[in-house]
Amino acid sequence: MLRAKEASCSEVAEAYLERIEAIDPTYGCFLAIDPESVMAQAAKAQSQIDRGEAGPLTGVPIAVKDNIATAGLETTCASKMLTGFVPPFDAFVVERLRGQGAVVLGKTNLDEFAMGASTENSAFKVTRNPWDPARSPGGSSGGSAAAVAARLAPAALGSDTGGSIRQPAALCGVVGFKPTYGRCSRYGLVAFGSSLDQIGPLARSVKDAALVAEAITGHDPQDGTSLDALPISAAEIEHGSLRGLKIGLVREMFGEALDPGVRESINAAVRVLETEGVRFERISIPSVSLGVSTYYIIAPAEASSNLARFDGVRYGMRAKGSGHIGLVERTRAEGFGHEVKSRIMIGSYALSAGYYDAYYLRAQRVRALMAREFEQAFQGLDAILSPACPVPAFKIGELNKDPLAIKQIDYCTIPANMAGLPGISLNCGFAENLPVGLQLLAAPMRDESLLQMAHSVERALPNATRAAPIP
Ligand code: GLN
Repeated sequence: MLRAKEASCSEVAEAYLERIEAIDPTYGCFLAIDPESVMAQAAKAQSQIDRGEAGPLTGVPIAVKDNIATAGLETTCASKMLTGFVPPFDAFVVERLRGQGAVVLGKTNLDEFAMGASTENSAFKVTRNPWDPARSPGGSSGGSAAAVAARLAPAALGSDTGGSIRQPAALCGVVGFKPTYGRCSRYGLVAFGSSLDQIGPLARSVKDAALVAEAITGHDPQDGTSLDALPISAAEIEHGSLRGLKIGLVREMFGEALDPGVRESINAAVRVLETEGVRFERISIPSVSLGVSTYYIIAPAEASSNLARFDGVRYGMRAKGSGHIGLVERTRAEGFGHEVKSRIMIGSYALSAGYYDAYYLRAQRVRALMAREFEQAFQGLDAILSPACPVPAFKIGELNKDPLAIKQIDYCTIPANMAGLPGISLNCGFAENLPVGLQLLAAPMRDESLLQMAHSVERALPNATRAAPIP
């Protein structure tokens, strides 16, 4: 509509702002919005279109998870610690979006510092699932997933350390894509587990996700782990075929923790894909069963180090305390929430002199083993298919109170972060009217073929892009 001039960028931006004002009080997706800046960006996009310089995202409003730096717009990581922190610069991905005429719509809610799987660990508010407001949208990118599902933004950015893009996408019935580690710059992403973190898009279709991925990826010298590779290309996405694909079903991802409704939806999707010519092979990747316990050494270890910078001196809030040590202690005691503190303590313990070998070093070995086992599996396979999350959206207050239960539901998504693989979740059906996410994983750097396969899968499955039942 924008390119055909059936609507102006300002009209589109205004329509989203109005919808957010009307509907977001129910869902709680957004933390910060600056309508003035939204309208100014829209006007700039319009002049780009008028000059005939429009790209695929020009004038398209995009929501950004609040752990990604936005110049001039508060970035809190949903933590009291960063209340009032306004970054002086844009994250690489945000700079890229703006450069292509996309309109940064606002900042979305998350679990504090992206630690969680339900968005209930936000210091500010609870986000609700557009399919059922009594339920969680998942997390930690729950605000982004719910915003896309509630059609408060056509697309959003999330971050994924152990599943935080793919799991909320699954629970909200939208698409969530985590690129190969290193394909998307982390410059300006507030670090959680630096060797695991990756930014990626949430959108209503695989094609939309691919267009955003194309816009935000590519080499960035500001991130030392950025790969010297071209941006992910969306060009070939529609030219794939399912016929002849060999896809693995990992036994360890179909264990007894799987909800019967989720199992039935995934099995039904597998049957449809079989009739389309996909050959499935049942395989075992034994290290997958060690994924959660290994992740909960490595991620907290890196977090304990990354979060040491929040001391009340440089960023965000500062508590009253006597002397330097007193100030740091009080700030960290008052600024961090319970889950973040527990991760810092677990991480510090795992890294401490007497326990380093027993925990951190062993976890790194398991991680290397996992990468090797996946590499071997991909030698004979185009992709791996699994549920993204073993359960559909759970009730708010139900799972997050049990620290083990909420962590165990990540066992299908964590391996991709451990091995650096690209992964995507798309909707494959419904269990008691709640969306079920199907995950596809591919070998590192196979992002384009993963998106192509996901696009073909989306086309083959009925209701893959069904919208949430809200006004
Ligand atoms: N749920 C996982 C955790 O709490 C993953 C979070 C994420 O990917 N950011 O650490």
